[in-house]
Amino acid sequence: MGWPEERINRAFKLARAQKLDALLFFSPEFVRYLSGFRGEGILVFGLERGFLVSDGRYLTQAREEAPEFDFRLSQSWLSGTAEVIKNQGFEKVGFEAEGIPYIGFQRLRELSPGWELFPLGDELKTLRMIKEPGEIERIRRAIEIAEKAFLEIRPRIRSGGRERDIALEFEYAARRLGSETLPFDPIVASGPRSALPHAIPSARLLSDGELVLMDFGARAEGYASDQTRTTWLGEGKGEREEDRIYQTVRAAQEEAIAAVRPGVAAKTVDRAARSRIAAAGWGEFLRHSTGHGVGLSVHEAPAISEDSEVILEEGMVFTIEPGVYIPELGGVRIEDMVLVTEEGVEVLTSV
Ligand code: ZN
Ligand code: ZN
Repeated sequence: MGWPEERINRAFKLARAQKLDALLFFSPEFVRYLSGFRGEGILVFGLERGFLVSDGRYLTQAREEAPEFDFRLSQSWLSGTAEVIKNQGFEKVGFEAEGIPYIGFQRLRELSPGWELFPLGDELKTLRMIKEPGEIERIRRAIEIAEKAFLEIRPRIRSGGRERDIALEFEYAARRLGSETLPFDPIVASGPRSALPHAIPSARLLSDGELVLMDFGARAEGYASDQTRTTWLGEGKGEREEDRIYQTVRAAQEEAIAAVRPGVAAKTVDRAARSRIAAAGWGEFLRHSTGHGVGLSVHEAPAISEDSEVILEEGMVFTIEPGVYIPELGGVRIEDMVLVTEEGVEVLTSV
């Protein structure tokens, strides 16, 4: 991917208030985003030069995937990192606070006489928020794989099917169609279990006259997709409480999507969905925010929530996923992914 000048300049700009002369990244998502390297290691950035600290397992791979970086071989990545910092004379070093456990941070601090460490949290959250055309292409590919796999296993979502078998069949189909490791374990939740927003697929058998919620995604070249469909099994559709819930959630989702365009606050989009559900009397049963950004991580910025401070910009990709979960009765969530375009919005998911 070459030297990520634009991306790394943005990172330094975000951290400029502290006048940092180096940045450290630990998470596989940031390491990949900033270097192209798909293995594990630590990235050390000066303004003009980048170092990748890892061990011998990754030597060949690092040279292939991140040729612009100086590869530093070290059995202890943290000691190797400290050595680079010392040799380069960096004094103020910002680090990806969410990417290192506390024990690693303590170790790094022990290794750091002569230089200071500054945690970077929210500053880095916005770094991957606006997607470049190449990233959007990969997200589209992930969606395509996930939707094909979903359509393939769709006939299995019927009375007598088992939640965890359906989840497994989705996983197999998605991997066979080209998904890398799945971005998250698929959720298949039927009947009352659909009221658990993040249910773990169980041995429960599906039966007619109940809801089935399936949340699924695939991954293409690092980029994730995430969507949810809820369906009703058997007869009786249109007469039940569940159907009224479904219509309301669907209307809430449509209103939220209609609100998306550059310049609009993320919380306005959240409110559009929330107020529609509240007006139907189910406000207390909406138990999560309306959406989240998707990219190298399945949950990243921007948050589409009540307290989000983000103003939407062209190139952002996120989910719109209102849901209503009524204990013992069941839950409905409809989740799609959208892209903020110059004119407004494009819904990326279509199945
Ligand atoms: Zn989801
Ligand atoms: Zn989601």
